[in-house]
Amino acid sequence: MDFRLSDDQKALVGAANAFAAELSAKTDYAGDMPRDLWTLWGEQRWLGACIPEALGGMGHDALSTVLTFEAMGRAGVPRGQLFAVGAHLFGCTVGIARHGSDAQRENWCPRLSAGEAVGALAFTDPGGGSNLDACATAIRVEDDELRLDGSKTFVTNGAHADVFVVLAASDDRKPPFNLSVVLVPRDTDGLAIEPLQGVTGLHQTHPARITLTDCRLPADAVLGRVGGGMAVLLDIMRWERSCILAGLLGALERDLVATTGYLESRGSAEKAAAQFQAVSHALARVRVEIESARWLMYRAAAELDGDGGSLIFAAMSKLATSETLVECGLALQRLAAGHGWTGGLGLAEALNDAIGTLSASGTSEAQLNMIYSQLQREL
Ligand SMILES: Cc1cc2nc3c(=O)[nH]c(=O)nc-3n(C[C@H](O)[C@H](O)[C@H](O)COP(=O)(O)OP(=O)(O)OC[C@H]3O[C@@H](n4cnc5c(N)ncnc54)[C@H](O)[C@@H]3O)c2cc1C
Repeated sequence: MDFRLSDDQKALVGAANAFAAELSAKTDYAGDMPRDLWTLWGEQRWLGACIPEALGGMGHDALSTVLTFEAMGRAGVPRGQLFAVGAHLFGCTVGIARHGSDAQRENWCPRLSAGEAVGALAFTDPGGGSNLDACATAIRVEDDELRLDGSKTFVTNGAHADVFVVLAASDDRKPPFNLSVVLVPRDTDGLAIEPLQGVTGLHQTHPARITLTDCRLPADAVLGRVGGGMAVLLDIMRWERSCILAGLLGALERDLVATTGYLESRGSAEKAAAQFQAVSHALARVRVEIESARWLMYRAAAELDGDGGSLIFAAMSKLATSETLVECGLALQRLAAGHGWTGGLGLAEALNDAIGTLSASGTSEAQLNMIYSQLQREL
């Protein structure tokens, strides 16, 4: 077991830092994520970091990809932007690259990797996202056509996505063999997109609700095969849960450093605030929590690069990382007090962004269900 980064990984982290600096110089960090920013991300193929080079990506493994997102977060790339790109890459492009037909891969992966198209994952029904095999979005196969009816919500990137990876269920098969995952292009007749209003945090992710009303698609729009959706769903979730929060974890580490610096500079001439043991210990604990989540995330990514067999590491990593983001974000806000709240350190905003991660890619309870079912198998 070697915990050090390889020379290639160090070079990649250096390239990610350079890209973050370029983004900072060319764009308004605090701003929105307009289409030309996607183009900028796509120019160097960061949008396809773990997509094979033959499909227009950079061809890196999952662990190296996680390292780059983490570095970008640490370098100050906005959390919402990193989350939007993560949903695009891990929730959409990876799914097409791993489960698509040659035609689907060739059609979508190069464009998604280059930022010429934006991707979204649409699994959550408005009636509830935790129980995905109770999916209410209907799929019917008629002659050579698929027909979809239903709606999806909380779709990250949904407001401006060009392609949606949609989960649907047929009523002629029993769960889990009723599920299919379908690629729905934005220009499909019967697809309506409604941006979600009033969300808390992660504002650059353009979440939307989509409605599918008798959408007709060719039979080859399905990812994998009709009725084979559960395996595709689990695989996409494994990638998303393992990787999507890497950038936010890097950003939390940046916030810890900034908060520590602030508390070292604050206080009386005799004693900085950080020198109170209650404060320094709280900062030290945040450091430990970040490190713990980081290694679980690396382990989950390494599982993806291995045989990818177990789902448990993705679930544990997602659980630990999202809860670390919220609990440590709250701890930093508490320590920085007014300066965190007023925006100088951006900690209240970070906490708002972190809250959504508790349910994105499945709630903590969904992860615990997955972890416990594995525990039962180990008896
Ligand atoms: C920032 C953000 C981004 C998102 N991006 C996307 C996206 O891109 N695509 C997408 O499809 N979805 C997305 N989602 C939706 C997300 O996947 C769902 O919020 C999540 O799966 C939970 O579904 P729900 O919100 O409908 O809650 P529900 O399923 O209604 O659950 C409500 C409560 O009941 C609990 N619960 C439900 N069932 C069980 C059970 N069996 N055991 C224990 N507890 C249970 C839940 O844990 C939760 O506390 C996003 C959500 C957020 C916040």
